[in-house]
Amino acid sequence: MTYQQTIQEIICELCRQFYMLGWASGTGGGICVRDGDKLWVAPSGVQKERIQPEDLFAVDFDGNVIHRPDNEKLKPSECTSLFLKAVNLRGAGAVIHSHSIHAMLATLVCGKEFSISEIEMIKGIQGMGFHDRLVVPVIENTAQECDLAEALGQAIEAYPKTQAVLVRRHGVYVWGPDWVKAKTQAECYDYLFRAAVEMHRLGISENTLAAHV
Ligand code: ZN
Repeated sequence: MTYQQTIQEIICELCRQFYMLGWASGTGGGICVRDGDKLWVAPSGVQKERIQPEDLFAVDFDGNVIHRPDNEKLKPSECTSLFLKAVNLRGAGAVIHSHSIHAMLATLVCGKEFSISEIEMIKGIQGMGFHDRLVVPVIENTAQECDLAEALGQAIEAYPKTQAVLVRRHGVYVWGPDWVKAKTQAECYDYLFRAAVEMHRLGISENTLAAHV
């Protein structure tokens, strides 16, 4: 019989992968995965690449902690109220918060929306094709992570098709119906953010690209 990883083990493995990608360095970033009527979240302010399954918290969909680790020094992720917006408003099964430098830089070369079209990786985002215009809302950063929750909820409601919200000078929140889709979408978004920043750096506009077709 093949061994089935627990959700807690998957979260720890993903945190190590995200750390290697630069999405969770310096204790930043985070992830939650839904498990029936609860969410598993990582602790706040710890090295994400070193967390163990027994360090995780479970919260209900109102944010009440229903399982806490034995280590009393640990606190649930600062991102929990933001994760819950995507879970409650969109039925997300997993939410990833990345401090990727590509996401952060993308917010410095756009206004209230990040937008891109005609790049193959757009197809990796739910409901999107190569010729569609992918639009991601950008919200302004706040001093405390939890203070982003209201603006994030408003952006999710204002952009019913989006699977991500960028936070200026900070990073991005990406979700999906399960952890696999949330992870692959987060990878596609990150590629697209990087592509847009590099195109900006190289002075390539989307119109320039179209002229070559
Ligand atoms: Zn953050």
